[in-house]
Amino acid sequence: MRDTTLMQMALGLTPPWTVVGSDFDETAHRLDIHIDFPAGSRFACPSCGGNDCPAYDTDQMTWRHLNFFQHEAYLNARVPRIGCDKCGIRKVQVPWARPDSGFTLLFEAMVMQMISAMPVKAVARMVGEQDTRLWRVLHHYVDQARARMAVSEVKKLAIDETAARRGHDYVTLFVDIDCARVLFATEGKDAATVAAFADDFAAHGGDPKAISEVCIDISPAFIGGVADKLPNAAVTFDKFHAVKIINDAVDEVRRSEQRKNAELRGTRHIWLRNPQNLSDRQKATLQALPTQHHKTARAYQIRLAFQDFYDQPATEQAKTYLKKWYFWATHCRLEPLIKAAKTVKRHWDGILRWFDSKIANGLIEGINSLVQAAKAKARGYRSTRNLKAMIYLIAGKLDMQLPALT
Ligand SMILES: [Zn+2]
Repeated sequence: MRDTTLMQMALGLTPPWTVVGSDFDETAHRLDIHIDFPAGSRFACPSCGGNDCPAYDTDQMTWRHLNFFQHEAYLNARVPRIGCDKCGIRKVQVPWARPDSGFTLLFEAMVMQMISAMPVKAVARMVGEQDTRLWRVLHHYVDQARARMAVSEVKKLAIDETAARRGHDYVTLFVDIDCARVLFATEGKDAATVAAFADDFAAHGGDPKAISEVCIDISPAFIGGVADKLPNAAVTFDKFHAVKIINDAVDEVRRSEQRKNAELRGTRHIWLRNPQNLSDRQKATLQALPTQHHKTARAYQIRLAFQDFYDQPATEQAKTYLKKWYFWATHCRLEPLIKAAKTVKRHWDGILRWFDSKIANGLIEGINSLVQAAKAKARGYRSTRNLKAMIYLIAGKLDMQLPALT
């Protein structure tokens, strides 16, 4: 078998495309495969699909392909422009690459597989390409897959922000709870993020009015945004965030009390945990404290009672329980707790809604940690656009429609 025939078969080329030769440069570790078509060949028009278009002129192009053993391999071909009766002059689409890409489809498929397992920069180093070129490939496939994304079944959303850069800059995630996938990621953590989501959702054929349940933190921005843009969504306030508000109040009580009570120093984590989750050492510390005198201990009891609220069997009992708790908390003479209880009171309906919706943002926490781990491994991303593409790749459950490598 001649080497051109072997390459022709290995590349899966069909007429009029033919391998006409190859150059192997041993010192440059490079194989160049030359592809051509016979004079007088006819091509399909990329715009209307009309066949039988004659070549008008050609443009010499090169594509990086999968390595040939340890050597870089490139395909070279003159790509014809055709004159279509209907569409005018158009560049023919070659079967091995997308228009304007300097890589073959199989090379891109390999890069995409590698990117899902390691940072883009590491992939770039391994394949010997600029990482910006690989990011372009990633953006292309993510954008295409998102354009095809079906959202008409989405009913329940979880909304939460994740840190984009150290200390500042946030990206808000909109997660389809039933499918556990990120539908949309956008800069900021304000009401405008919900508006941006609603636009994107509509652009994908979804109806923002069809969203019936939303889980958010107790945040005025998200509350306002949801009321405005997702008008039929019942709001559930994330239970972990509600508990955190009480936790923060307990911590405030402790911080102010430990100024006069040195024995409270270093006990911060004890008050943030449930008794059954304390380590033996923490239990011993707690028992050694003259707890009955401490305001912190009183605050802690109120916080434990708030957690028990979530163990109520149904909305009715929960409502009764919450009323009693509120009375207790607002009469405890601990200012931070009273303030926290009033926050709970103001968001009563969304807190109670949990008993019907049973939705929480724990799902986003999981996605968040995947995103933050990828970010840490990559030592951050050059742009928020890159971060968002990575979020979609990791947690978008997108169908990239890449050619099979095997
Ligand atoms: Zn045409």
